[in-house]
Amino acid sequence: MSDLLHKPIDYLKGVGPNRAQLLRQDLNIQTVQDLLYFFPNRYIDRSQHFTPSSLPQTTAEVQVVGSIIHLETVKQKKGSRLVATFSDGQNTMELVWFRGQQWIQKSLQLNKAYVAFGRLNWFGKKCSIAHPELVFVEEHEQRKGNFQAVYPSTESLVKSGISQRIIRQIMVHLFDELGKGVQEVMSPTLLQQYRLMDKHTALRHIHFPDNQELLAQAQYRMKFEELFFMQLQLGLKKRNRKIQLKGIPFPALGNYFNTFYHKHLPFALTEAQKRVIREIRTDLKSETQMNRLLQGDVGSGKTIVAVLFMLMALDNNLQATLVAPTEILAQQHYNSIRSLLEPLDVSVALLTGSITKAARKPLLEQLADGRLQLLIGTHAVLELPVHFRHLGLAIVDEQHRFGVAQRAKLWRKNDTPPNVLVMTATPIPRTLAMTAYGDLDLSVIDELPPGRKPITTIHRYDSKRLAIFQFMREEIAKGRQVYVVYPLIQESKVLDYKDLMDGYESIVREFPLPDFQVSIVHGKMKPDDKAYEMQRFVSGKTQIMVATTVIEVGVNVPNASIMIIESAERFGLSQLHQLRGRVGRGASKSYCVLMTGNKLSQDAQTRIQTMVRTQDGFELAEVDLNLRGPGDLMGTQQSGMLEFVIANLRQDVDIIKAARHAVDELLIHDPALEKVDNKLLRQALYLSQQGKSIWKYIG
Ligand code: ADP
Ligand code: MG
Repeated sequence: MSDLLHKPIDYLKGVGPNRAQLLRQDLNIQTVQDLLYFFPNRYIDRSQHFTPSSLPQTTAEVQVVGSIIHLETVKQKKGSRLVATFSDGQNTMELVWFRGQQWIQKSLQLNKAYVAFGRLNWFGKKCSIAHPELVFVEEHEQRKGNFQAVYPSTESLVKSGISQRIIRQIMVHLFDELGKGVQEVMSPTLLQQYRLMDKHTALRHIHFPDNQELLAQAQYRMKFEELFFMQLQLGLKKRNRKIQLKGIPFPALGNYFNTFYHKHLPFALTEAQKRVIREIRTDLKSETQMNRLLQGDVGSGKTIVAVLFMLMALDNNLQATLVAPTEILAQQHYNSIRSLLEPLDVSVALLTGSITKAARKPLLEQLADGRLQLLIGTHAVLELPVHFRHLGLAIVDEQHRFGVAQRAKLWRKNDTPPNVLVMTATPIPRTLAMTAYGDLDLSVIDELPPGRKPITTIHRYDSKRLAIFQFMREEIAKGRQVYVVYPLIQESKVLDYKDLMDGYESIVREFPLPDFQVSIVHGKMKPDDKAYEMQRFVSGKTQIMVATTVIEVGVNVPNASIMIIESAERFGLSQLHQLRGRVGRGASKSYCVLMTGNKLSQDAQTRIQTMVRTQDGFELAEVDLNLRGPGDLMGTQQSGMLEFVIANLRQDVDIIKAARHAVDELLIHDPALEKVDNKLLRQALYLSQQGKSIWKYIG
């Protein structure tokens, strides 16, 4: 049986060497199994029949019953067309062919009842179908099933004569050949518990559905299977890690944590922050390594949670590190953490790429001999030969900016891998968090600190710029500060840079010295200059900060209350949300102004409208997922594993949850898949790891 599945498609009846070559080339169908998993992308309802007298006023694909009463070739400007008059005895319509006319003309029979299938074309009251599919009524009635599969195809396939009908024929041969023999992979218990159709029946109904109901059951079954195995693999990975990797437990809460927690917390923690701290604390008490994702909206207060954990590490005579994606952010974390921990006598240092070798040397020495307790930094912490005496905790801020490989480097900073906490910049849709990050434990801060005022978000066209300048003047007069952000997108760096400098100049003209001071920060500046300009803005010496997205993540200047985003249509949703999160951090009313050109694409319009409508990061994440799809959302790193044959992360939320539930239960009751009941699962999993099944996508 499995032999058949792994044979090349040439083996099947109806697939000669030519067709096999085309199917390989155009659809990447190599084996019989590939063909079996080549699923239709839609279905046509074939239960309804019309006649030329009862045609619906649509341009849908329909079936019309009638007979051809007249056939003629009509000359056109270029070439000719073949026109058949199709009649039900009362009224007529036209069937038209532009290609293959001679052959078709020969094969058609006059005055015999046909079912014609195709898309209706209306020209006034006259209706026609071009290149209909024609079947004699008697043959048509023998056909089983009212829903007919339509497969993805390409133009060259169609031109080479591999029509939908031919693909369906090949599928018929495939199922003849298969007999009843597609091996089940789900356990009997799961089949029963989740009311899943057996695999063979499901595959048959996917290709040849008897009715809508059975088709839906078949699709559910195959989606469940796909999502189940994906999550099972991640679940097993997580479990194996927990068994195999001894962690570094933090048994004690000591002086550092207690003193800070009881005496120096600058504010009362939110309930969500407290809950997350309890969750992480439980991890850290156990013997296994922690590997946790901390999700929270912009401004939900992830940093203080990170600080509390670093203190736990210190209490257990371990070192901790916090890695951020940009120098500005690392610098800022360093400043704020140093001042938070001022009363505690903790040694903290900053390590970035721009710190000179000479300055780096003593720092690295102190890190290696353990005098330095806390290291804040950028990629440099991962890339440079940085050795800790005993690293207990590594925190990655804004994890999406780091690749998997970079995160893996953290793991190798000790013989025993440190506990790892990765934090997101903006929320990830739930379905993605469950799937793409299924091997991590998940904590969510789903509450903002009290007293946050909503940020008013408005959309303005570029033509309204003067009014915006006026608004800026009024707010600056009240003592507020303003960000003006320009897009900087890799491919068109030169052009973007020019936009930024033009914008900067026009702002300096509008807001001249000595009344106004304007800062500028962009990627081409030296790190020292960036820090200097940033500092001028933080201390209130400048009122306007013109910048690229380098300030996107994490920057915290509470007195800044206006965020103006230029060419907002060019930013993605999560970026816009991040940028907006730079304001609304202080006591005053805050605004976010999205400036755009007049012409907006559909997607850009949706992004802008969503930003104006809501400030909820979790809601924005869902919209983003719908606009961009999971692959794009996760970046190229993880997109491969999110390619499904039939499941859809946007639409199949309930199935993802059901499959996740099934995986969780399974791993509680039979974590090594040893029970007889789970034999099929174990085999399928083994096969999938050999890259021989539909889960081959999972890396
Ligand atoms: P993010 O989750 O985006 O990293 P931050 O940790 O930078 O958010 O916190 C945003 C701001 O909220 C900071 O100024 C921080 O001091 C403040 N903050 C955090 N938690 C609380 C709280 N429980 N009460 C009041 N302010 C808080
Ligand atoms: Mg942050």
